Amino acid sequence: TVLNIGSINWDRVYSVPRFPQPGETLAATSASVGLGGKGLNQSVAIARSGGQVRHLGAIGAGDEAMLEALRAQGLALEEIAQVTGALTGSATIFVDAEAENLIVLDPGANARIEEAAVAQALTRMAKGDWALLQNETNMLGRGAALAREAGLRVALAAAPFDAEAVLPLLDRIDLLAVNEIELAQLQEAGGTLPEGLAVLVTLGAEGAEYRAGGQSIRAAAHRVEAVDTTGAGDTVLGAFLARLDAGEGPEAALRYAMAAGALQVTRPGAAAAIPRQDEVEALLAK
Ligand code: ADP
Repeated sequence: TVLNIGSINWDRVYSVPRFPQPGETLAATSASVGLGGKGLNQSVAIARSGGQVRHLGAIGAGDEAMLEALRAQGLALEEIAQVTGALTGSATIFVDAEAENLIVLDPGANARIEEAAVAQALTRMAKGDWALLQNETNMLGRGAALAREAGLRVALAAAPFDAEAVLPLLDRIDLLAVNEIELAQLQEAGGTLPEGLAVLVTLGAEGAEYRAGGQSIRAAAHRVEAVDTTGAGDTVLGAFLARLDAGEGPEAALRYAMAAGALQVTRPGAAAAIPRQDEVEALLAK
């Protein structure tokens, strides 16, 4: 089982002919609302990849639509706190005619996860289970420490990258997931990867590499027509962890994750675009 101590966002996407000027009001040509947040994307990826996931997070009090949406994803609500006086986290995304984007992120309730909730959730986990963290909640450092103390293995997606947050954690986690840019930022900030740390590096259209115990496994990406890569890294990480947690070896898990990532980028949206296990297996069987 994976305990994902993770962010939950509404992604609000507005198409605009051009970005408005200060003081200007402009009509959107289309609008949509969907599930997002790196944490939630990863939980959806784990669930659709046949893994067991418990999502621990926080949303604004009274956000019934989010509760309903989480339920519809098959996620349990027991560890979703409703925070009074906070909004559910959100990303408001404007996309102009050139497909350029402009994003305002509000962490909202994601910044108000309580340590006691994490401690409580950990009592329901078993030694050797995974805890998963990203840098979109207030529980990155404490969450990693508590999970480790409880005997869980800790996976960290170092995104959005923040050297100050990530560097002190490198020798306290078991798996680090980064894309090429984050890996470069890590090295630039003087971060060195400890011997015992497993690392999953996603390489966009080039695929991914998994390094552990002095060995490295490389997997190519499938050749697809990408239409929207939002959430691709989350999909690959969630799928990879789900398959590891289901008892597969890293090579098979990485192969599965590459097929999941390939399907995800061919569809618009973040969580909505994540493929189910049967779809991934159909691609792998080709
Ligand atoms: P992030 O989304 O975190 O920036 P990457 O850009 O490295 O991460 O992409 C994550 C994964 O998504 C890749 O490892 C690959 O499996 C898949 N992917 C991304 N872009 C493409 C693409 N153009 N074609 C096929 N797969 C892709």
